[in-house]
Amino acid sequence: MKPVIALVGRPNVGKSTLFNRLTKSRDAIVADFAGLTRDRHYGQGKQGKHEYIVIDTGGFEPDASSGIFKEMAKQTQQAVAEADVVVFVVDARAGVSAQDHDIAKYLRRLGKPCLLIANKAEGMLEGAQLTEFYELGLGQVHPVSAAHGQGMRGLVELALEPLNLPEPEEDSLEDGELGPIKLAVAGRPNAGKSTLINTWLGEERLVAFDMPGTTRDAISVPFERNGQKFELIDTAGLRRKGKVFEAIEKFSVVKTLQAIESANVVLLLIDATQGVTEQDSHIAGFILESGRAVVLAVNKWDAVDDYQRELLQRSIESRLSFLKFASLHFISARKRQGLGPLWGSIAQAHKAATCKMSTPVLTRLLLEAVQFQAPKRAGMFRPKMRYAHQGGMNPPVIVVHGNSLEHVTDAYKRFLEGRFRKEFNLVGTPLRIEMKTSH
Ligand code: GDP
Ligand code: GDP
Repeated sequence: MKPVIALVGRPNVGKSTLFNRLTKSRDAIVADFAGLTRDRHYGQGKQGKHEYIVIDTGGFEPDASSGIFKEMAKQTQQAVAEADVVVFVVDARAGVSAQDHDIAKYLRRLGKPCLLIANKAEGMLEGAQLTEFYELGLGQVHPVSAAHGQGMRGLVELALEPLNLPEPEEDSLEDGELGPIKLAVAGRPNAGKSTLINTWLGEERLVAFDMPGTTRDAISVPFERNGQKFELIDTAGLRRKGKVFEAIEKFSVVKTLQAIESANVVLLLIDATQGVTEQDSHIAGFILESGRAVVLAVNKWDAVDDYQRELLQRSIESRLSFLKFASLHFISARKRQGLGPLWGSIAQAHKAATCKMSTPVLTRLLLEAVQFQAPKRAGMFRPKMRYAHQGGMNPPVIVVHGNSLEHVTDAYKRFLEGRFRKEFNLVGTPLRIEMKTSH
């Protein structure tokens, strides 16, 4: 599972700027999808070989006793509790404040790995002006500049160092192909996740068997259905009690993200009685960013009338437009309606996500597409596409090679995506197209 980094510090020290930096590499991938909300406090990132989840906490008042500050403190504390490591951000220019001391005290008591960084340190002599921060009692202070992108990689490495993480495995093309289909059921609290899972696990055709949990308090249920092996992985927001699942009180975004990350296919449940909410599109955005295959199911279809159904269909089209490659189902977990066809879509999504595309076939399709419509000339540059090969699975990545490909427009990439999707029947999986220019 990816490690979780929480950014903590008083308002205005540059946490959001830092957050944007740390999550940027991932955001770039999805920059041009309409309907994808990005004003959020949870993100994923990659620096060098390290992948991680990062949480931006609001301003932090550890002793706030009322109102919005109390709520913020509560949320920050939850974030900190879920984090593997805390990055405490102070303002190199403003110096140490009383509030910094309060936060430091809180963090020292917490006893979690904690990295102290002084932001806005661009142009400052290596650490010289920063000695006063040692009085926070959190060890060495590391200067960075979030606004100028200085010190980012070092920051991530230092932050993750105490966790002694195993070396990340090289992505292999076989990834996700062997073994059971890892399935995560995601959705807001009350969307019906536990009802659905319990319905499944109660079915005779589905043989569940016990296996000791793997990491931390992860839930993992292997089962078989019609000869296909599945593994229901650490399903967020649920706890296993004997033979049934029940929802836990507190919904955990971090657990949801980790579940999405470790799945091959995510079944995203939308609550028909609530419509498509902001939280739904956040979760959907994470699925897209992670590149997981996805099946959409609108649950509680029994509880809405025709008018609401119509509205729902439209709001899915507009608010989840970036998942239009996914198949969509209308179900009732409680009444056991519409559940059968989900399995077909899950298998289809997994097949698409792990599909193998040979270089000759990809290249032929690429050249046919170019012949049908060539990429536009950009000034004196004419992008020239030469061949394509598959660079990964789950999600499938198609790498296009040629010259001046940095001038290929997003619209053209979408045109290519459409052609590849159609040819390989890629229903239910994101598809990434990368341009590789040789000079
Ligand atoms: P937050 O409240 O902690 O999330 O802080 P923000 O990220 O909103 O940043 C507060 C202000 O500090 C903004 O005006 C940023 O442009 C500025 N800022 C952030 N990082 C840096 C930096 O590295 N150097 C300088 N000089 N300003 C920064
Ligand atoms: P979770 O928090 O996502 O695990 O949601 P639960 O499975 O605990 O369901 C929340 C509530 O929605 C419970 O009261 C369920 O009985 C109800 N519910 C779940 N599925 C359906 C359904 O298909 N139709 C209706 N009408 N209610 C449902």
